[in-house]
Amino acid sequence: MTRQYDVIVAGGGPAGSAAATLLARAGASVLLLEAATLPHDKLCGEFLSPETVGVFQRLGVWPAIDALAPPRLTAARITARDGARWDAPFPAPGIGLSRYALDKLLFDHAGQVGADARQAARVTGVVGSLAEGFGVTWQAGNRAHAAEARVVLGAWGKRANLDRTLGRTFLSLDHPTFALKAHYHGPPIGRRVELHGFDGGYCGLAEIEGGRINLCLLAETRVLHACGGDPARLAAEVLPTNPALAAWLAHAARIHDRFLAISQIPFVRKAVVENDVLMLGDAAGLISPLAGNGMAMGLAAAEMVAPLVLDTLAGRRAAASLKATFSRQWHAHFDRRLRLGRLAQPLMLRPTMLGLGLRALRLVPPLGAALVANTRDSYVTSET
Ligand SMILES: Cc1cc2nc3c(=O)[nH]c(=O)nc-3n(C[C@H](O)[C@H](O)[C@H](O)COP(=O)(O)OP(=O)(O)OC[C@H]3O[C@@H](n4cnc5c(N)ncnc54)[C@H](O)[C@@H]3O)c2cc1C
Repeated sequence: MTRQYDVIVAGGGPAGSAAATLLARAGASVLLLEAATLPHDKLCGEFLSPETVGVFQRLGVWPAIDALAPPRLTAARITARDGARWDAPFPAPGIGLSRYALDKLLFDHAGQVGADARQAARVTGVVGSLAEGFGVTWQAGNRAHAAEARVVLGAWGKRANLDRTLGRTFLSLDHPTFALKAHYHGPPIGRRVELHGFDGGYCGLAEIEGGRINLCLLAETRVLHACGGDPARLAAEVLPTNPALAAWLAHAARIHDRFLAISQIPFVRKAVVENDVLMLGDAAGLISPLAGNGMAMGLAAAEMVAPLVLDTLAGRRAAASLKATFSRQWHAHFDRRLRLGRLAQPLMLRPTMLGLGLRALRLVPPLGAALVANTRDSYVTSET
């Protein structure tokens, strides 16, 4: 007989694991399906913005995260190729933590509070509706599985096989960007997140647990093509065109054998509800990494959707209201920062504009403060 759940969550990244935790803890039967085997390295800047600390406390995972001694990061520094520089303090500290540690910790926690959390389980299909219920299929090893649920949450990240299955339109667009990441041993950069611009891209540095430094860059695809598609050549030839980055790289050594790489990154509007599946995190919309806020948004969306889903399961909210309310809340909460990210990102890619922009931010401090404030939530806690 096909097993029935209240909720199936497709994707066990920060958004999916957080949603599964909140729903399971409130008594819902939840199946959490994650395609990867954890722990695993994931391409990300690995900076968790200040408001995530409060979410981790509410999820009950903060003691486990704190035990890993992630560095507290209290400010951002942005530099341009011409030497211009802007420093912005955060209103409360964020943290630097590897996705290798974070994703496993959040996924395991969902299992500990009662979700049926399965890894190496790739969802292959979702059919049905909120009115009729859903059928979900997944592949684990070479076995196919199926289950049913009243609600399905889509938390499979920025781009996945399921986007094609659901016929999502953003897949037909070209997204000429790529990203690279590797961990380094290098000169300490203090309690800062740094972003260094170069022609066609920018490169972030953030310390993570264990004193390592995560280097993660985003650039236009042409930059990689100009280096013959070789990330190591790009790191050796393009990154040192920014003097601050050149000075750091001169004394840094890569820990990972090779760079993690992704391409075709979709910074475009997506539907928040698709075929009655409620989307969370990057599956709903991906903010420019410049804001360092993607994980916080995924966690916030999980906190937004959980009470609405619980109301629906308890018969207090109709399916139409679940979809409409979630969609309205999501847009009200995130649209402004997504727009700002889309506006600011092109500036980061043009050295002359970046230099001018950073000088303007130094001259008019309220402008910078507004930029920091409008790309994130306010801070519910600062007990770090
Ligand atoms: C270059 C770059 C740098 C970034 N730096 C930062 C940063 O410093 N700070 C920050 O907060 N954000 C950053 N982000 C954004 C951040 O990585 C994302 O916003 C965040 O990972 C979103 O979490 P999520 O749970 O929605 O998706 P993900 O973390 O992508 O998780 C989705 C999960 O779904 C799984 N999955 C996919 N398909 C299936 C399937 N069919 N079945 C089952 N599981 C599936 C995947 O294996 C994955 O584990 C950055 C993004 C980029 C591109």
